[in-house]
Amino acid sequence: MIRINSLNLYYLNFPLKNNIITSFGVMKNRPSLILELKDNFNNSGYGEVWCNFPSDAANYRFNIFKNIFVNKLKDLEIDDPLKTISIFDKIKIVFIQSGDLGTYNNIVAAIDCAIWDLFSKNKKLPLYKFINNNSKNNIQSYASGINPGEALKKIEEARSVGIDSFKVKIGFNNNLDINLLNLLKENIKKNENLMFDVNQGWNLHNVKKYLLILQKYKTFWIEEPISASSTNEDYNSLSNLNNINIALGENINNINDFDYYFSNNKFNYIQPDITKFGGISLIFNLSKKYNPKKIWLHFLGSGVGLLTSAHVMAAINPEGKLETDINENLLRTKIFDTELKVIEGKFNLNNNFGIGMKLNKEIIKKYLIKSFTN
Ligand SMILES: [Mg+2]
Repeated sequence: MIRINSLNLYYLNFPLKNNIITSFGVMKNRPSLILELKDNFNNSGYGEVWCNFPSDAANYRFNIFKNIFVNKLKDLEIDDPLKTISIFDKIKIVFIQSGDLGTYNNIVAAIDCAIWDLFSKNKKLPLYKFINNNSKNNIQSYASGINPGEALKKIEEARSVGIDSFKVKIGFNNNLDINLLNLLKENIKKNENLMFDVNQGWNLHNVKKYLLILQKYKTFWIEEPISASSTNEDYNSLSNLNNINIALGENINNINDFDYYFSNNKFNYIQPDITKFGGISLIFNLSKKYNPKKIWLHFLGSGVGLLTSAHVMAAINPEGKLETDINENLLRTKIFDTELKVIEGKFNLNNNFGIGMKLNKEIIKKYLIKSFTN
């Protein structure tokens, strides 16, 4: 049993020199909401609230957390991290009523991760060992966040730290850039993998035509080719079109859809995000119910969510690869006392308890927009 004694919430913002472009908009900075829960054993547990967009997402979630969740957390006693999600069922009604379940899911996911971190610290185990006693202590990384205009440059950067798999954004303006495909085909080595992320950019009218063209290129997977709100049947029809793997999951926010895709053997790469929906508890449960090799966690936020995701992947799918943003973001690489680095293509996890690192107070101070303590 642990009891939450106090908490800090940090709203941080890292301004970008080069914008990140997606098919649905441009990111000019990288916001981050970091939750620190302190328990009665004086441990700190960390979680991250997903808040990438729209531009006011972090500020809005900061206020919602402060005004609605804090009272529920203070003096909370919990005997099992798997019970975290259900603690907030009463609050959930407000968000169902307002049609804003995304915010609710993002905040509860962060709390869940922080509580898993606290429990592993109390058990005096690294998080990966707490999740799976036979866990490996490292995980391969693949490079993500690659804009088409700088694909070769970013691939070269990723290669320089031993990464052999790269995910490039395509699908802008409901199009398929054949010149880019040819350029990549010429430059990708035999032992390397190429993934494409359409970010929901194609419609049902064009997608089949594009997938048929793509089968001429060596493709590890195509991610979210059509809207994530498409029916399961629409996604299923794409998976049956040819042998290209369709990947999705970062925008799935209900158990039924996860059940559908995990139990469908045409889908081999499912990408939940522990900071968006369900936290570690969801992944733990899915990994017990289904083939954990299908779980390739999505992640594109700060170091807290990335390091936590690395522990989870090492514990449940050690042969998989963890999505790793290749663009500069000091809130990813330097948010802890030790720099988060990919070495020889992977993250090595230390033997310290929990996620194994402490927040770097200098970086927090430098990029802080506001914080809240209770
Ligand atoms: Mg994606």
